[in-house]
Amino acid sequence: MAEPQARLDELIARLRERGGRLTPQRVAVLKVLATSDQHPSAEQIYEHVKADFPMTSLATVYKTLALLVEMGELLEIRFCGDSTRYDGRIAHSHPHLICVKCKKIKDLELAPLNPLSKEVAERTGYCILRYRLDFFGICPECQEEE
Ligand SMILES: [Zn+2]
Repeated sequence: MAEPQARLDELIARLRERGGRLTPQRVAVLKVLATSDQHPSAEQIYEHVKADFPMTSLATVYKTLALLVEMGELLEIRFCGDSTRYDGRIAHSHPHLICVKCKKIKDLELAPLNPLSKEVAERTGYCILRYRLDFFGICPECQEEE
């Protein structure tokens, strides 16, 4: 995983290459994505950015997120009935650990899943583009509260 500052520079460079506008608000969105390990939702990113740039709209945040997802620089973690969450630090598929009570999402260090992807490809003839692996449970902090 890249250092937050290195990841931020990378995101800025990629957006610049792409000819995307680099407004201060947009850079602020990138900064949240590069530094947060919380897998924030669009609303949470908006709250952060608004603190420094009160004129920011939620639409600006959504547009920036959509562009980054399209560029393959942002991992979208969608849920049925819950806000979509975003991982701007690690954009490739990776496993997550999700607390069903407090909704926190953590990255999970597991053995590389490339061999599994390869096996799926070999067995099915599919060209595997990405995978999704989520473990749902109750985190230690929430267990203590019970
Ligand atoms: Zn993640």
